Amino acid sequence: MGTNEQSFVEEAFRTNWIAPLGPNVSGFEKSIEDYLGNGTHVAALSSGTAAIHLGLKLLEVVPGDEVLCQSFTFSATANPIAYLGARPIFIDSELETWNMSPELLEMAILQRLEEGVKPKAIIAVHLYGMPYKVGEIHAIGKKYSIPILEDSAEALGSSWNGQNCGTFGDIAILSFNGNKIITTSGGGALVSKDIEKKEKAVFLATQARDNAPHYQHSEIGHNYRMSNVLAGIGRGQMEVLDERVEARRRNYRYYLEELNDIDGLSFLPEPEGMFSNRWLSCVLFDNYATREKVRIALLNENIESRPLWKPMHLQPVFEENMAFVDGTSETLFDKGLCLPSGSNLSSIDLERTAQTIKKTIQ
Ligand SMILES: *Cc1c(COP(=O)(O)O)cnc(C)c1O
Repeated sequence: MGTNEQSFVEEAFRTNWIAPLGPNVSGFEKSIEDYLGNGTHVAALSSGTAAIHLGLKLLEVVPGDEVLCQSFTFSATANPIAYLGARPIFIDSELETWNMSPELLEMAILQRLEEGVKPKAIIAVHLYGMPYKVGEIHAIGKKYSIPILEDSAEALGSSWNGQNCGTFGDIAILSFNGNKIITTSGGGALVSKDIEKKEKAVFLATQARDNAPHYQHSEIGHNYRMSNVLAGIGRGQMEVLDERVEARRRNYRYYLEELNDIDGLSFLPEPEGMFSNRWLSCVLFDNYATREKVRIALLNENIESRPLWKPMHLQPVFEENMAFVDGTSETLFDKGLCLPSGSNLSSIDLERTAQTIKKTIQ
């Protein structure tokens, strides 16, 4: 936590705004809008997953639709497609950003069109805070008139050509889950440049209540709005977002300086024009065996590390789903490791981690 979170939370108690609406919710939304700029409107919600669910609804995804989804991601990106009775089709990554491959995306669209099916939406992810190839992916979306849901859950504070992640998609989403760069313990947001989309998201998130003195409903709604107590934490966290980004980038720079010269280990540099919040510092080893050797050596020192996300097309639950893949994300999953990346790591923590890795592979 930063400095002012608790006073915003106390304010909620003092004024008895213990509800999924109130001044902290509006204030938190305003501070995100100010941060993101570009005419964005923000709806604070109970989670990033809820934001994706509502986002897909706003893009009119209905049962039987196909949605093209980045395979290399956390399951929360893809699950809401299934909530809607639609079908995720998974697209592999490229090696420059580890995110959705524009080539495979276009190949998938052409193949589906040939089969007479037009995909309803694309979900692209800025994984680990690294922007996806925004220019190319959005050009393809535009060329085939398929809207893009931008999963920016891990990328608040990242940017592409100077423009903030979370401002590119027809809909974008953020997450404030406990493990993200800033947190409300649990929470998320839906971002849109179209104020009507924000209003519709808030409507759906508050049980889709029609404008009447009694409770009347013409649509199925959800209980997805953010609590005014948690939004208080969010207001305080927005004040320290830039510090958190700097802390995460410092972790990455430290690992890079200490480990870059070692054979058999590599990093993901920022491509031209891309700025990553370095939510997690990740490294790639030459092979699976070395990765495991390092992971276990760290574990023996009581240092937690974790393999990269297991691609969705390799998950048992999505076994039957169509996928356009070339082995890239599978290789990343085999060889990659997320290193300790917390904003509060001390230089001793970082040194202990780097030294253990060095000792293990040299
Ligand atoms: C965390 C995360 C989500 C989901 O956000 P929650 O707030 O945890 O529901 C979605 N996509 C990605 C890539 C994430 O990392």
